[in-house]
Amino acid sequence: MALRIPCPTCGERAIDEWVHGEIINVPAEITDPDRRDLDRGYFHNNTEGVVEEAWFHLYGCRRWISLRRDTRTDTFL
Ligand SMILES: [Zn+2]
Repeated sequence: MALRIPCPTCGERAIDEWVHGEIINVPAEITDPDRRDLDRGYFHNNTEGVVEEAWFHLYGCRRWISLRRDTRTDTFL
């Protein structure tokens, strides 16, 4: 079964209706803009466990939502 995302406006919808966004988690100690871009672009954490994600409901209400997802089970919390 395909992953479904709960939308507060439209209800639970198939992942095909959504676009994944980005929550930038570059460490604060990296202050140089070029190093921040490099870290954001290439050094993803690939966390096993709960992560915070942004999703845009492109084929629905066209709103951004922020969700927490457990990457081990691919379920939204
Ligand atoms: Zn929606």
